[in-house]
Amino acid sequence: MIEIKEKIEQSNSIIIAGHVNPDGDTIGAGLSLLLGLENKYPNKRIDFVLQDPVPKNISFLKGTEKIKKIEDINNPNYDLAIFVDSATIERVGKVESLIGDTFKINIDHHISNPKYGDINLVKDISSTSEIMFSLLKELDLVVTLEMGEAIYLGLVNDTGNFAHSNVTDKTFLVASELMRLGVNNNKIVNDFFKTKSFQRMKVLGKALSEMKFIQDKKLMYFNLSYEGLKSLGAIKDDTEGVVEELLNYGDSEVSLFLREDETGKIKGSMRSKHDIDVNKIAGIFGGGGHIKAAGFTSELSSEEIIKKVVENL
Ligand code: AMP
Ligand code: MN
Ligand code: MN
Repeated sequence: MIEIKEKIEQSNSIIIAGHVNPDGDTIGAGLSLLLGLENKYPNKRIDFVLQDPVPKNISFLKGTEKIKKIEDINNPNYDLAIFVDSATIERVGKVESLIGDTFKINIDHHISNPKYGDINLVKDISSTSEIMFSLLKELDLVVTLEMGEAIYLGLVNDTGNFAHSNVTDKTFLVASELMRLGVNNNKIVNDFFKTKSFQRMKVLGKALSEMKFIQDKKLMYFNLSYEGLKSLGAIKDDTEGVVEELLNYGDSEVSLFLREDETGKIKGSMRSKHDIDVNKIAGIFGGGGHIKAAGFTSELSSEEIIKKVVENL
């Protein structure tokens, strides 16, 4: 990716943008790139900006304190924008206002990505972090332990700790190289998965006790109202992992989790066990993702969304 290297070298002010409600992959990819670029080009201005805060169970990664919020940026004026793990420009939320028509590099792994960048590095592999690991080498950036930990977390996040069908022999090769670098897989997995808040455990309990199953569609779903979230003293980060849990039911082929936000809008997440294409269903609501994992945001009511999903299964 020689064009990416040239573009970075020509630019003095670079913004890295990740998606709203950031996960381990968008943070892993963005943070490793930020740290690598800072080390190699100390005189360039490089900002990694996210609309939403870093989730608590990811903030143990060294360097996350450098990630900026929109309010931190007084003088955007970037000459290069690098999008990571963002299937569309809109996925970066309000960060888009800092970018405008700045030259765009699009680094992503979603099949729904329309290649909106001026340069596109879009591959259908496990994670943006896996793409980033190869890119860092091509950019001649030294991968430090901190960068390796960020990438490892990205792999763990998007592969369900190396369990999903998006894992290939190459994914394991990257993991192997990262371990050789000193990454402690057990520590990362413990910090990431085994540090849930009390509220998050309660949200899961509510989901497991109130979920519904539609036998003829093999759909397990759960709808969490904003009231329901608040009554548990929970925040949206506490709902992470619910959609995967719903798919653990033996008879289910597909899961749907709906969460209402404070404005009444619904965030939907879907997962599929085998052949059902949830990217297509998320597309009906203007979202997307992958065949087996996709999401969307909708102004429709939860009843209307469930009805549409059922009709299209
Ligand atoms: P989630 O259910 O939010 O964990 O998302 C599942 C997958 O779909 C992830 O790879 C997301 O990045 C992707 N995704 C979620 N929401 C959207 C959206 N509105 N547009 C495109 N991709 C999305
Ligand atoms: Mn992501
Ligand atoms: Mn991803």
